[in-house]
Amino acid sequence: MSETIFTKIINKEIPADVVYEDDLCLAFRDINPQAPVHILIIPKKNMPRLNDAGEADEGLLGHLMLAAHKVAAREGVADAFRLVLNNGAAAGQEIFHMHFHLLAGRSFAWPPG
Ligand code: AMP
Repeated sequence: MSETIFTKIINKEIPADVVYEDDLCLAFRDINPQAPVHILIIPKKNMPRLNDAGEADEGLLGHLMLAAHKVAAREGVADAFRLVLNNGAAAGQEIFHMHFHLLAGRSFAWPPG
C-alpha cells in the first residue's frame, strides 16, 4: 500500500502537533484548521479509505470514535463537536489514509457544503 504524509507522521519522520497517541491511533492538529479546534484522528494501521475496512477492523473503528471523544474532552469541547470522515475524492478526501476530522469551537451549518 502506498505511503502518505500521515504514514510519515505516524513514523515520526515529519513533525506534527500530536495531542493524543495510543497503540492503535494518533491525533494531531490539522495544519490548515477550519475551526478553532481541528484535530485529525488516524489509525496507525494503513487503511486508505473507510470502505477499505473489513469485519476485522470493527474494534479499531470503535476505538477511533472513542479516541475522538477522549480528545474532545481534553480540548474542553465534549459538549459540541463535529466528527467528519471524507471517503473518496468526490467526498473531499485528499489524503488517502483514513481519518476523522474533529471540529469544534464555532457553530456549524447543516447540510455541510
Ligand atoms: P481530507 O481532505 O479529508 O483528506 O483531509 C486532509 C487534511 O489533512 C486536511 O484538512 C489538511 O489540512 C490536513 N493536512 C495535510 N497535511 C497535514 C500535515 N502535515 N499536518 C497536519 N494536517 C495536515
